[in-house]
Amino acid sequence: MNFQYHLITYGCQMNKNDSERLESLLQHMGGVPIKEKEKADLILLNTCSVRQTAEDRIYGQVRTFLRLKEKNSKLIIGITGCMAGRDKNGKIRASLSGVDLFFAIKDMTELPRWIAGLRPDLAWKGEVPPDYLSLDPITPHLPQAFVTIQTGCNNFCSYCVVPFSRGREKNRPLQDILKETRSLADKGVVEVTLLGQTVNSYVAPDSEHFSSQNPFHHHFAALLWEMNQIPGISRLHFTAPHPKNMSEEIIEAMTLPAHLSFLHLPIQCGSNEVLQRMNRKHTVEDYLRAFEYTKKRIPWITLGTDIIVGFCGETKEQFQETVKVYKEVDFDIAYLARYSPRSGTAAWRAFKDDVSREEKKERWEELQVLMEGISFRKNQAYVGNEVSVLVERCEKAGEIAYVYGNSRELKLTRFPGESEDIGKIISVKVTRADTWLLEGVRV
Ligand code: SF4
Repeated sequence: MNFQYHLITYGCQMNKNDSERLESLLQHMGGVPIKEKEKADLILLNTCSVRQTAEDRIYGQVRTFLRLKEKNSKLIIGITGCMAGRDKNGKIRASLSGVDLFFAIKDMTELPRWIAGLRPDLAWKGEVPPDYLSLDPITPHLPQAFVTIQTGCNNFCSYCVVPFSRGREKNRPLQDILKETRSLADKGVVEVTLLGQTVNSYVAPDSEHFSSQNPFHHHFAALLWEMNQIPGISRLHFTAPHPKNMSEEIIEAMTLPAHLSFLHLPIQCGSNEVLQRMNRKHTVEDYLRAFEYTKKRIPWITLGTDIIVGFCGETKEQFQETVKVYKEVDFDIAYLARYSPRSGTAAWRAFKDDVSREEKKERWEELQVLMEGISFRKNQAYVGNEVSVLVERCEKAGEIAYVYGNSRELKLTRFPGESEDIGKIISVKVTRADTWLLEGVRV
């Protein structure tokens, strides 16, 4: 039975990859994606809980969709993702009356049964695998794809909802990961991003399937080696690793040919006292050790990080420790967040959110200015050099068509090109560099 669905996704790459699996299931069931929500039979929101503002936006959208339901009583409204996953006491569900489906993402395989219960005319009798990770994701952005290798997290950083919304760490079988990647390579994918909450803590539940020639013992390093053997996958990277699991063996595996010259390693803060309150389980010194070894083995690597400013009790001096570490590492990019308390977390229960909103803003701006200055300076070093770009899109600027893509250092690069270049890997000589963009000409 055909039906029309409208799916909205918020949040991280993991959520986007989950939505690719949702789409795969819905389309198997006869669903057709539609842009106009007014015409949809089913509206699904895959939500993010990382900040209160992200959840507030969902409440606003649900109110809009409930107005559509007044005109079309058959409309099904569904909420999944982090909001549903973390709602252990049912409070969020209770505040969303009128919503028909409210489910953790791992339960998406129940959708056919639930939809048939609400709309018998949409009943579908096909087979669904019991584990949602066995669903083949729809890959809309060829030649790039995400491959989830792990869900959940055991770390319980005191500010984070992920262990509540996604549960404990669960690693996918090695065989499933390699099978999915080979099938993506057959479809034309050349760049794969491995996804996990702490991707480098990966432990293969079926380690007997590692090749006998694989020289690595650490399972994540060994997985990187296996990925390097898959014909067609010439660009590989991963997100997000945890500093405490960043072993020398993993850094060695990052020197293999497919690995991109980029490492995103969240530090969150430059003060050991704050890191302890965050329950990060690593010190600044641990972080710097991993960073120094990475630089020694891969001197040309670019580095990214995540930082939270204004965590509970963070003094001005402790914030300045973060600034000092930022300068020392000389990060290429950082995702900066102002601390926002999340109900249910240890920090929400145990600490006071005592850094004022203005102070958080000031600290955020200080780091932002620092980041932009460093990024501009570091990008200048590319001028006159060649970078290898995987073309992702083509846009016209006046009379000239430009193509855009990332270099192996994950620097956004543009140069004159055409839509036929999309999906190609092209060498580009950089002629000009800005804070966030390299410009050049194909070689
Ligand atoms: S490592 Fe910490 S921040 Fe990352 S998902 Fe786990 S609990 Fe959250």
